[in-house]
Amino acid sequence: QGDSKDIDSEVESICPFCGVGCQVSLKVKDGKVKYVDGINGPANEGRLCVKGRFGFDYIHHPHRLTKPLIRREDAPAKGLNVDPENWQEFFREASWDEALDAAANGLGGLRDTHGGTAVAGFGSAKCTNEEAYLFQRLIREGFKHNNVDHCTRLCHASSVSALIENVGSGAVTATFNEIENADVAIVIGANPVENHPVAATFFKQFTKRGGKLIIMDPRGQALARHATHMLQFKPGADVSMLNAIMHVIVEEGLFDTQYIQAMTENWDEMRARLKDFTPEKMEPICGIPADTLRAVARDFAGAKAGMIFWGMGISQHIHGTDNSRCLISLALMCGHVGRPGTGLHPLRGQNNVQGASDAGLVPMFLPDYQSVTEDSIRNHFTEIWGSGDFSDQKGLTVTEILDAVHEGHIKGMYILGENPAMSDPDLNHAREALAKLEHLVVQDIFLTETANYADVILPAAAFYEKSGTVTNTNRQVQMGRPATQPPGEAREDWEITVALAERLGLNWGFTHPSQVFAEMKKGMKSLDNITWERLERENAVTYPSLSPEDPGQAIVFSDVFPREGGRARFTPADVIPPDELPDAEYPMVLTTGRQLEHWHTGSMTRRSKVLDAVEPEANCSLHPRTLKMMGVEPGGMVRLITRRGSIELMARADRAVSENMVFVPFAFVEAAANVLTNPALDPYGKIPEFKFAAVRVEPAEAK
Ligand code: SF4
Repeated sequence: QGDSKDIDSEVESICPFCGVGCQVSLKVKDGKVKYVDGINGPANEGRLCVKGRFGFDYIHHPHRLTKPLIRREDAPAKGLNVDPENWQEFFREASWDEALDAAANGLGGLRDTHGGTAVAGFGSAKCTNEEAYLFQRLIREGFKHNNVDHCTRLCHASSVSALIENVGSGAVTATFNEIENADVAIVIGANPVENHPVAATFFKQFTKRGGKLIIMDPRGQALARHATHMLQFKPGADVSMLNAIMHVIVEEGLFDTQYIQAMTENWDEMRARLKDFTPEKMEPICGIPADTLRAVARDFAGAKAGMIFWGMGISQHIHGTDNSRCLISLALMCGHVGRPGTGLHPLRGQNNVQGASDAGLVPMFLPDYQSVTEDSIRNHFTEIWGSGDFSDQKGLTVTEILDAVHEGHIKGMYILGENPAMSDPDLNHAREALAKLEHLVVQDIFLTETANYADVILPAAAFYEKSGTVTNTNRQVQMGRPATQPPGEAREDWEITVALAERLGLNWGFTHPSQVFAEMKKGMKSLDNITWERLERENAVTYPSLSPEDPGQAIVFSDVFPREGGRARFTPADVIPPDELPDAEYPMVLTTGRQLEHWHTGSMTRRSKVLDAVEPEANCSLHPRTLKMMGVEPGGMVRLITRRGSIELMARADRAVSENMVFVPFAFVEAAANVLTNPALDPYGKIPEFKFAAVRVEPAEAK
């Protein structure tokens, strides 16, 4: 923190990291952000975590892209690591006109020769709602199909698929701040202290005033200290544990008959399917004593108001949709939806993953989750856009797009603000796909690992350099404002997409994101009563907002669900084991995730001085006894090997992981966790199983 007299201006915006969406005040001096304070946003009430407070200086890093770049004709092979300080061997600087022409000619040429499906797009959950909307419009309108996706596929796609199926909407039913009114809360497959730190402070407060917190996770975590129950279950055994808890609720008659009769369907089948999941039978499968399962069932069902929060420990499995189905059923049978202190809340990862999904950056849905297969819906959008029709086929998802590149069906890509060369499972396979592309346009703020494969690189503005709205995990649409100028010739993403669209024959005519927001409102009922002007005035409005004065509904589905017939549905789930079980060759379980100080693929936080100083080195966590058995000291090097590849990195002793498990954060390019991960997909959400792979761990020589 600095001295308020020592700044030129203060700008209110939104933290660009996680889905909590903390509001910030950016203190600017001489065109640079000097420090950041939290302000009184609805999600953070003045609080910030270490990333929000200290992780802003990446925007001023000398590695920022400042000019468009075009791959040199005599450049070495695509995919070789390009030094961000010494890239001239690979790329040459170009004017914006030349670079945009090259991008449009490359992608447009593939479209004209092979058809629109030869080109696909990955948009970004780090961009604004308006930018996400324009990106999906460009692919749909410009290439006439739906091969457009973004990283929601890799985080909560299975949660969204289960929520849409069973409650009719993919967003949370209550804000996380509603925990204030709850008596009991389950946090499962999430580590809020590391990944949603400001939300975690509300969870801790809840326990201080007597709320019962139930943590369920194969890994221990800091929040467990505050918990009434900590269920450290066996990795991948979520469904068996949750079904056993629901079995007890049925067996002991703890369910809410009135709610079930009035608000749900398929209860009889659900009840019948739970019959065999006795706690005694499930105990050896999930590793949780039957008595504990019974106690948790009684605490949750017996509470007046209960909430369920979950993270990627639930979603990133081949049974991720089944995991979420179980959580939805658990809440429904207890009547814990639609009242103060109740609700279902998948904690969204990136700052705008909710908004980007709402804006249609997904292959099966137009904005507001309206199906691309419905003629009337497509017609509505082509009317708004003044364009011809596009494909009624659901498009391919992130991992399917890269498979289609391998198969030769997709030959060109436009990638905005995503880093699949670090974030996709089975990275060697993903990187080979990127190398095969005939034309790749990358739009980003740094020369990312994905940019190593680019033909054209378009330099973009960072979040604190642009205007636009974002939507957090709470459904709060919030206004982001520019505090500083983009470096060099970098431009805001929406401007670049508009300019590229123009060269592809789409003359949209947008000159400000507020115009894009106004167009979005024509196709998105969720934005009713929310206007750009209102957001400029109020900073945040929760959707749905029932009138121009209504700050928005923190709790939804009090008397009706947005499904045909108005009822929520119970969808039973059976136990499906993880795709790749440990065996003699690969005897341990690999799981991946994030750390407090680093964000996703590390392109921003590893260029932030404070955050990089706190957590500078690629690391993994192993139980002290496992390290001892291997003869490795804490801090020593280990090699992790799966069927897909191997990495070497420093090992930490950590009692939070069990003896047969290794945890690896995925932010470190020098030991990229996703070289190891399994690309097997959940059949509904098409999300890969990042949370479980068979791995062998052995000592490695220190480098
Ligand atoms: Fe930013 Fe999330 Fe931390 Fe809030 S909790 S400051 S949104 S990273």
